[in-house]
Amino acid sequence: MNPISYPSPHQLCSTLCMRGQGVVKGYAIGRAVVMGAAALEVAHYRIQPEAVDKECERLKTALVAASGELQTTAGSLPDDAPREMGALLTVHSMLLNDPMLVQQTCDLITERHYNAEWALTTQAQVLSEQFAMMEDSYLRERGADIRQAIERVLRVLSGSTVLLPQLKEVPADEALIVVARDISPADMLKLRGGRFAAFLTDLGGPTSHTAIVARSMNVPAVVGIGNLRALVRDGDVLVVDGATGAVLVNPPEFALNEYRRRQAAYADDRAELSLLRDAEAITLDGVRVRLEANIELPEEAVAALAAGADGIGLFRSEFLFMGRSTLPDEEEQFRAYASVVQTMAGRPVTIRTLDIGSDKTLDGEVAVAANPALGLRAIRYCLANPEIFSTQLRALLRASLHGKIRILIPMISHMHEVHAVRQAIETACAELDARGVPYARNYELGAMVEIPAIAIAIEPFVENLDFLSIGTNDLIQYTLAIDRGDNNVAELYDPMHPAVLRLIAHTINAGERAGKPVAVCGEMAGDVRVTRMLLGLGLTEFSMHPQQLLDVKKEVRLSHSNALRTKVASALNRAERIDLDSLVS
Ligand code: PEP
Ligand code: MG
Repeated sequence: MNPISYPSPHQLCSTLCMRGQGVVKGYAIGRAVVMGAAALEVAHYRIQPEAVDKECERLKTALVAASGELQTTAGSLPDDAPREMGALLTVHSMLLNDPMLVQQTCDLITERHYNAEWALTTQAQVLSEQFAMMEDSYLRERGADIRQAIERVLRVLSGSTVLLPQLKEVPADEALIVVARDISPADMLKLRGGRFAAFLTDLGGPTSHTAIVARSMNVPAVVGIGNLRALVRDGDVLVVDGATGAVLVNPPEFALNEYRRRQAAYADDRAELSLLRDAEAITLDGVRVRLEANIELPEEAVAALAAGADGIGLFRSEFLFMGRSTLPDEEEQFRAYASVVQTMAGRPVTIRTLDIGSDKTLDGEVAVAANPALGLRAIRYCLANPEIFSTQLRALLRASLHGKIRILIPMISHMHEVHAVRQAIETACAELDARGVPYARNYELGAMVEIPAIAIAIEPFVENLDFLSIGTNDLIQYTLAIDRGDNNVAELYDPMHPAVLRLIAHTINAGERAGKPVAVCGEMAGDVRVTRMLLGLGLTEFSMHPQQLLDVKKEVRLSHSNALRTKVASALNRAERIDLDSLVS
């Protein structure tokens, strides 16, 4: 095999362009290495009636072996593995121990005389369809867990332990790109050790394990491509654009050259941006802006620090609670919160209390409300479940001994909820006092502004709280009555709607008047296209994914805050749509 080179004329005709969902930005050019999917290659045959018992035994032995492998992997995770991996592997192992799975698969062997592999793939199909019909998108995606766990059993049944083929002809200096139907957490952990330039999967969405692990490795990834695995052969040349989700197969030389140029420009850009890591986030007219990071798991604080974040503006603590069968206890939560505080070395850490419900549910809790986004979610859920809330508050108070913690309450809509939270904190303190456990009271208390009602009637909240953080993701959803997860209305989800901008402006102005800090921690804060607009609204505190931080810092340093404020204020007064192109200073 030649190194990547000019394709022949027939290759020019065979260039294929596919598109999936880009979940980790960046470019990759390399050779495909196609991961086998045991489920696609299983032998289907009928067994003799007298062989039924033996076949059921073969199935059970494989289930036990696969479950054991998963437990062993969970027990020997590398230190830098994403935190939820252990829990995910345990869930996969539990799925394989489910007596229903064994029973129903054995029934297929007994009644239809299917061989074990065929029975298992048939049962997997039934379960996948049941998951696919679930309304909750998070649960729908969990159908992938069943499929991946069963894949492992099929591999055990086939006696195959090879994950990826060895591409002997590929020169060592050429990058390899993994192409798979889907990648289970256990396999993703194995692949982590290799030097892969990108991950491409036919299945999966932004919360799939491929996306989570690829993000933690900072390797470009595209998921949900549909049919790539069937169309690509080992050694094919692939080009991946992790931002747009485009994948080119055996592209012509001119396209390769174009992507080499983009890849180099992107690398230069990142290198140039990294020089800004220690530069101040200050506008041309001297307004100092705080740039903080959003994290979902404690170990991501390291990336926040590496990006030069001024602190953690949003730790979505619910990610500690999701994808597992038991809730984290006080001790586990304390260690998680304290580790973030210690990593951030004196910088403030904003920890949002459990924001569960609606699009984020606990395992085993199926959303039954007709309208979960308007139901018992976030602080409403916590106040209705005082045990869960108090456990979290105790962990937060204990972690406050190690540094500055800002407790952020999601989905506040009434002042009496703020009073109830203060009362709950007092109860948590009393519980710790009774046990003689040390804690600190040096926390600050703030609220998410994500329900229009509190943005409109903001004054008592500003007065009674230490800080506010605007959750634009939900604020837009509730202001415009657009389900943020519904593709059918995605076009109407408009961060630039004058009503949304006025609510943001009103909140920022109220904070300014009362001398209380106001941040934005929704996706808008990390979107460099709207940085100038937010500066124009008077925002001086942004919190975003660590990867977006330096881009935003660059934009801040090129902006003139006062000029932007004048322009944005006059457009807002006229309730005009703000033309972003006009915000050049
Ligand atoms: C928001 O609503 O803007 C926000 C930051 O919270 P989440 O996206 O977790 O709901
Ligand atoms: Mg929200």
